[in-house]
Amino acid sequence: MKNLRTEIIKYSRMLNSKKLSALRSGNISSRYKDGFLITPSGKKYSSLKNKDIVFVPLSGKYDKRNGSPSSEWKFHQDIYINKKAAKSIVHAHSTNATAVSTHKRGIPPFHYMVAMAGGHDIRCAKYATFGTRELSKNILNALKDRKACLIANHGQIVFEENLMKAFELAEEVENLSLQYITSLKLGKPKILSLGEMKKVLSKAKNYKKG
Ligand SMILES: [Zn+2]
Repeated sequence: MKNLRTEIIKYSRMLNSKKLSALRSGNISSRYKDGFLITPSGKKYSSLKNKDIVFVPLSGKYDKRNGSPSSEWKFHQDIYINKKAAKSIVHAHSTNATAVSTHKRGIPPFHYMVAMAGGHDIRCAKYATFGTRELSKNILNALKDRKACLIANHGQIVFEENLMKAFELAEEVENLSLQYITSLKLGKPKILSLGEMKKVLSKAKNYKKG
């Protein structure tokens, strides 16, 4: 468990250094035993120690003596309960993904790399107050057949089979958001067809297998 805690701290610091989330915003977790390990509430990532990473069982009944998990722990819990493939989660208030989300819109197939999120588009979950079950529900709706989504007026969230992949996917969502905003400056970008995105998705699947 020591290694997993160290990994979570390493990637949470990268939220700051890779400019995915400033100061204490965003949060990171990894599935562990019958629950998950998650970054704590209200602590700067630069000061985190192994003992600060909080264990939350899937039941949600965590031991308060071990510190408080991120105030947004409920959507981590609900994703781990509902998505068997989710082993690690990265949630970030990255600038460009957040900027797109404030228009309550997702990212259409303007670039084939959108398929990295698992489908032909990246949806935007409906707004609800942070930390609420309502927000969890909205996020799960947006994550149907996807492993990443934007969250309206908030940011982005992704899950993957390990922390490294989850972090890279969050970086990709941020990069796509920047490219999408840039392309909108020239007018409405030409969107790839569903048929083409299907081809890309099956290629990505085979590439993974290979
Ligand atoms: Zn947040």
